[in-house]
Amino acid sequence: MADALTLLIRDADCVVTMDDQRRELVRASIRVRGAAIEAIGPAATVGTEADEVIDARGHVVTPGLVNTHHHMFQSLTRAIPAAQDAELFGWLRTLYPLFARLTPEMVHVSTQVAMAELLLAGCTTSSDHLYVFPNGVRLTDSIEAATAIGMRFHAARGSMSVGESAGGLPPDSLVEDERTILADTRSLIEQHDDRGRYAMLRVVAAPCSPFSVSRDLMRETAVLARSLGARLHTHLAENDHDVAYSRQHFGMTPAQYAESLGWLGDDVWHAHCVKLDAAGITRFLGGPFDPREDDGLIASGLDRHPEISLLAPRHVIAPVLDDTQRAIFDEDACHFSGGLAIGLLFRGRYGNEVSVDVAHERPLLFAGCD
Ligand SMILES: [Zn+2]
Repeated sequence: MADALTLLIRDADCVVTMDDQRRELVRASIRVRGAAIEAIGPAATVGTEADEVIDARGHVVTPGLVNTHHHMFQSLTRAIPAAQDAELFGWLRTLYPLFARLTPEMVHVSTQVAMAELLLAGCTTSSDHLYVFPNGVRLTDSIEAATAIGMRFHAARGSMSVGESAGGLPPDSLVEDERTILADTRSLIEQHDDRGRYAMLRVVAAPCSPFSVSRDLMRETAVLARSLGARLHTHLAENDHDVAYSRQHFGMTPAQYAESLGWLGDDVWHAHCVKLDAAGITRFLGGPFDPREDDGLIASGLDRHPEISLLAPRHVIAPVLDDTQRAIFDEDACHFSGGLAIGLLFRGRYGNEVSVDVAHERPLLFAGCD
């Protein structure tokens, strides 16, 4: 890395380090060599020469935000009148026919649109959960888009295998054969997953949700991903209908369901989880999860967060990073405004004792307000 290009961000009014001491350095500079920060501190100590110099006077510099959950293809299906004011299942049933018309070009374009929005909002690393593959769509369509735009990317190979005729929510035309899903997931991880320190691309195994994939696929996906050192991602406990589906079809709560399948651990992150029960929250606090502002937007709920704050008084742990599904629900994709909104929601409901903190030590960050 000694001959890698250098970047100097100099003379910022403030550099927000987000280190353990939460230091905020006044009139500070940052020197980057290749992909690594090699110096940060008072401007006079960091030097003035570099291959590229950015004058940051008048600016605040923060670490790049990390977006833990997105469906970038849905950037193309915003503001559909029939999906407005719908709860999750109704929203999905309205949009599935549109998702069925997705093409490789649409995935490429929508991924770049979503990433441009994220980058403009200060996000430098994003996951994307792509779970529909009609008309020749492949995960590599989004990977190529990310590579072209230059964003650090966790590409999640989503999947749906249980269609309406088998008791699932999606139409049969949008589900895939489970052997095909597993073979493609293996191939993608083997070809594209970079486990290096400064990797720009990881591949994640990500069956979509309890109401769209089988228990067998969940189990086999976990075994496959772990054999290859890849991470796991899915939706869980997203709203009351989601919970009812788990109880009806599996005879257990979402948290029990996830645990029974081997889907808890440091290599798993779940989206939503706003409807975990108290026992589930206690179980999940051992690992990352990701409730978000958009759950409020589609009225899925916030009502299990009191237990979280009770377990960690005065703080709501690791909520929100990622408000980026706001983009899907016809909003913008600004993490800062999302962080502010979630903080105000919690504070309005639970009082000023609640603060929303940055869970900087976790792989899924963000974003607070206070
Ligand atoms: Zn989602």
